[in-house]
Amino acid sequence: MADTKRDYYEVLGVDKNADEDTLKKAYRQLAKKYHPDMNPGDKDAEAKFKEASEAYAVLSDPEKRKQYDQFGHAAFDGSAGAGGFGGFDFSNMDMGDIFGDLFGDFFGGGRRSGGARGNGPMKGANLRVSVRISFLEAVFGVDKQLELNLKDECKTCHGTGAKPGSKPETCKKCGGKGQVVYTQQSFFGTIRNVQSCPDCHGKGTIIKDKCPDCGGTGYISGRKTIAVSIPAGIDNGQCVRIAGKGEPGVNGGERGDLLVEVQVTPHPIFQRQDQNIFSTVPVSFAVAALGGEVLIDTVDGKVAYEVKPGTQTDTRIRLKGKGVPSLRYRDVRGDHYVTLVVQTPDKLSKEAKDLLKQFDALTGDSLNAVKNASASTDSDDKKKKFWK
Ligand SMILES: [Zn+2]
Ligand SMILES: [Zn+2]
Repeated sequence: MADTKRDYYEVLGVDKNADEDTLKKAYRQLAKKYHPDMNPGDKDAEAKFKEASEAYAVLSDPEKRKQYDQFGHAAFDGSAGAGGFGGFDFSNMDMGDIFGDLFGDFFGGGRRSGGARGNGPMKGANLRVSVRISFLEAVFGVDKQLELNLKDECKTCHGTGAKPGSKPETCKKCGGKGQVVYTQQSFFGTIRNVQSCPDCHGKGTIIKDKCPDCGGTGYISGRKTIAVSIPAGIDNGQCVRIAGKGEPGVNGGERGDLLVEVQVTPHPIFQRQDQNIFSTVPVSFAVAALGGEVLIDTVDGKVAYEVKPGTQTDTRIRLKGKGVPSLRYRDVRGDHYVTLVVQTPDKLSKEAKDLLKQFDALTGDSLNAVKNASASTDSDDKKKKFWK
C-alpha cells in the first residue's frame, strides 16, 4: 500500500519547504475542487479529496510533518506502528478546526458559529419578556417601565465564580479548551464534531471553591427597571429589541439583547387588521331613511359623519387616515372602516306604532316594489356602497 501512495507534497502540489500558508492555500484549492458536496457521486473526486485531506492533515502538523519527512509514508502505515486509516488516523486530526478555518466562506460562513465557540468571548443569550398594552397604546405608542431580574457580574469574584483567593481549575474533560470533540465516521474518514464542553459549559474552567456571594455562577441576579419605548403602530405579538439588556456575555463577550414581546388587549369597539381599524355603528331607522349626522368613535375621538338619506343596513364607509400608523412612518396611517347598522325599532309607544302604521299605509307597497326591483341589479350598487 505504501508503494502506491503519492508523495504528500506532490499531492498538494507544493515544494518540500512550503510554509504553513502555502500548504493551506494549496489544500483549500484542492478541497474546494474535489469536495464531495461539489462532486456528488464522483468516486474519483472523493478519492482525490481524501488524498489531499490526508496530505494536509499530516503536513500541517509540525510533528507529523517531521516524521513524514524522515520516514515517508512508513511513518503512518502501520509498519512504523501508527496504524489507522490507509496508514493515517484521522481521529488525531481536528477536522472541525480545519473545515472551520478553510471553509468558513465556502460553506456559507460558519461551522464555528452557534454554541461551540470554545472559551473565547461569547455574546450573552437574548432574554424574552412580554408586556401587555392597550389597543390605543399599540396604535399611538407608549413608554413602559419593565421590572425584571437581570444578571450582572458578581462584584465579589468579578465574574469568575471562584471564592476570592482561589482560582478556577482547568476543566479536565476539555483540557481548558471549552470544547469537546466527538468523532464521526464519514465516507472520507473520521470527522470531528466540535461541541461546547458539557462539564464546564464552554468556559474551560471548573470552580472547586465557589464564590459565596454568587454560588459559583459569577453572576448576581437583581431586580432592574428598564424603560422600553413601544413604537406607534406595533401589533400583537411583535417584539421590541433592546440591545445589551439580555444575559451577560461570557469571557468578556457583549450582553445579549432583551426582546420585549407586545401583547395587545382587544378593544371593546375596534378591531384591527394590519393598519386598518374596523367597527360597527348603529344608525336609527329614521336617520338611515332621512339622512342625518351620526357621531362615530375613532381612535382620534368622535368624528361627525353625515349619513346619506336612504342608507341601507351594513353600508360600509371609510374614514381615511383614521387607522393605525405605519411602524416605519408614523404619519402614514391606515383607514377606519365603519359598518353602519340600521336599527329596527323594537320598543315602540302606541303613538309611534300608529305613526309607523300610517307610514306603512302610505309607502308600504311602493317600498316593497322598489326592493323587488332592485334585487336583480343590486350587486354592483351594493359594492359601491360597501367601499365608498
Ligand atoms: Zn461571585
Ligand atoms: Zn470543559
